[in-house]
Amino acid sequence: MSSADTPKTAKSVFIKTYGCQMNVYDSERMRDVLRPLGYAPVDSPETADLVVLNTCHIREKATEKVYSELGQLKRMKEESGGKMTIAVAGCVAQAEGEEIMRRQPAVDLVLGPQAYHKLPEMIARASRAVGDRLETEFDTLEKFDALPKTREADGPTAFLSVQEGCDKFCTFCVVPYTRGAELSRPVDDITLEARALAAQGVREISLLGQNVNAFHGASPALTNESDWTLGQLVRHLAKIGGIERIRYTTSHPRDMDNDLIAAHGDTPQMQPFLHLPVQSGSDRILKAMNRGHTADEYREIIRKVRESQPDIAMASDFIVGFPGESDEDFEATMQLVRDVNYAIAYSFKYSPRPGTPAAEMFGQVPEEVKDARLQALQKLLREQQIAFNESKIGHTVAVLVTGRGRLEGQAHGRSPWMQAVHFNGPAELTGEIVDVKITGASLNSLSGELVRAREVAL
Ligand code: SAM
Ligand code: SF4
Repeated sequence: MSSADTPKTAKSVFIKTYGCQMNVYDSERMRDVLRPLGYAPVDSPETADLVVLNTCHIREKATEKVYSELGQLKRMKEESGGKMTIAVAGCVAQAEGEEIMRRQPAVDLVLGPQAYHKLPEMIARASRAVGDRLETEFDTLEKFDALPKTREADGPTAFLSVQEGCDKFCTFCVVPYTRGAELSRPVDDITLEARALAAQGVREISLLGQNVNAFHGASPALTNESDWTLGQLVRHLAKIGGIERIRYTTSHPRDMDNDLIAAHGDTPQMQPFLHLPVQSGSDRILKAMNRGHTADEYREIIRKVRESQPDIAMASDFIVGFPGESDEDFEATMQLVRDVNYAIAYSFKYSPRPGTPAAEMFGQVPEEVKDARLQALQKLLREQQIAFNESKIGHTVAVLVTGRGRLEGQAHGRSPWMQAVHFNGPAELTGEIVDVKITGASLNSLSGELVRAREVAL
């Protein structure tokens, strides 16, 4: 329902999402929980009855943004005569719940990532000013069991959470502390959610997890087996009519098993794109990060993935300036990037996170060194990204149309390798996979001309 359709008596909710795709998914599920209570989503916080900040704790900057946003919301709440309810959700809520309440008394509710199903109950408590306003228990399965089984799809692509939490304990990362232990959802629940999405016209699903390829879900209804792998799950979901494209993110190199690698080659719905973060190309730094693999082992995984699916586009995350990183270590990262050749990459300066082992390590790297390394790395990654995009010029590419383009008569969609594609065509093609001849490429998108709408085999 759009804000324009909202009945006058209805309440409104504005949710601002920071950080990763898990948070995007969680925000959608919070909307699902609130809908039966009459909360309609709106596009700005000013007049909303409920404002939720779904936060990210991964780097210091992301956390600080939350506190500055809360200052602005406090002013809006005062202007509303105190009618606005402010909730902080997500990983900052999990890590700093009491600190948030102390630093910003205008906050009414704080709920960690496993407590979204309790949102209605907490809103009631806050309005009566009784009971707990802080929920940061870890009970992932209780959350999934309690969330509504139906979801309103928002276009032809959708995220589907299959796994949460992390047991890897990389020494720089807060996720194991904010999202809890690794847990996989039951295959049967995932299947139901995927079917319901397909029935609403979703063509592409992205399976989500902090360590999605560590997935090991149970399926009492289907096979009585309790340890399905991600490869099996992908093959199973590929059988659902209407699901034309499957992706998964984010993966860990240690969990990249042979069956999943094979699925890239033998399952047509599996898209030729793999986001496999490596963080560093130096074995010494990988060890200090507790990543559990070497740079050459990572290269070998990519060799096997490329053997299985030669068209694969590789993506990764990098951290520069991890404690103790020397010029030589950094050069090893640059060499790995040259060897792999990435289509897309995300790179960050190391940000010490309270409570993680790396924050206490000797050899913290000065800010100006981190800056210089990040610039050099991003320059190389940008060159590779542009070269990848330009390599598609002249080719006819299958594009899933996701909506109207910015210009009149233009539609936009997504390539198999995750690039945004703009082309001349009617918005009515939304949800179809069409052939587009690529005529232009920039850093972040491709442009082209519609060749023909394809027959979509359903
Ligand atoms: N599970 C994924 C993996 O194993 O690579 C990554 C998930 S993490 C939410 C997303 C990215 O944030 C990481 O890949 C890493 O590059 C970055 N990141 C995490 N902690 C960081 C820190 N303390 N400083 C800078 N970047 C960080
Ligand atoms: Fe964080 Fe990913 Fe390492 Fe888990 S595997 S601790 S989520 S970086």
